[in-house]
Amino acid sequence: MIQDDLSRDAEARLAAVRDRIVRAARVAKRDPADVTLIAVSKTHAAAAIRPLLAAGMRDFGENRVQEAQAKWPALREDYPDARLHLIGQLQSNKAADAVALADAIHSVDRPSLVEALARAIAVQGRAPDCFLQVNIGAEPQKGGCAIEALPALLRQARDAGVSVVGLMCVPPAEIEPAPYLALCAKLARDHGLGEVSMGMSGDMETAVTLGATYIRVGSALFGARV
Ligand SMILES: *Cc1c(COP(=O)(O)O)cnc(C)c1O
Repeated sequence: MIQDDLSRDAEARLAAVRDRIVRAARVAKRDPADVTLIAVSKTHAAAAIRPLLAAGMRDFGENRVQEAQAKWPALREDYPDARLHLIGQLQSNKAADAVALADAIHSVDRPSLVEALARAIAVQGRAPDCFLQVNIGAEPQKGGCAIEALPALLRQARDAGVSVVGLMCVPPAEIEPAPYLALCAKLARDHGLGEVSMGMSGDMETAVTLGATYIRVGSALFGARV
């Protein structure tokens, strides 16, 4: 596909997603400006990302540190104000790379990772905004801390100088997400955290009405993953 077609597609998809956010915010009497759209660009090449940057998108999400390291330095040369969010499961041995690269890390979910991030933050003098990921559906195969483990993890992170701004969740697939999204928002409120990272292509309206402040949207912006 030539670049002009890519640009038109990207602009149309972005407009459609923004429209969905605005409508959902209106239903909930929320200001759409309080919801930051993150374009999840995992698996998509720079050629697919550039049209969104050109259309004004600045927040992007990647799952893997290595993939982000390969793609983003060049893109950031042209768009220095682009913000990179790491949203995938993070190994502790990648913590230093993550701190060096990311503006926000949404997948902080265990004490060993908090320790590794705290060390990297101290060494680099750079502190990405961190979200504690909660395994909101208590699914064994999924990342995220257990709900019962959240208070201790939050205390540990705060004591270690890791700046926790909010909670993140991925609700169970194939069932109604609203109760899980509502629970995540309630946990954030109960812990005095202002940011809630939840909502994807399939459930962004529900997430916005239930209080999401960051939504992570991939396929609705990029088309199906390759
Ligand atoms: C891929 C991914 C998304 C985006 O999912 P879509 O359904 O493509 O919008 C959001 N959050 C996480 C953690 C992801 O891995």
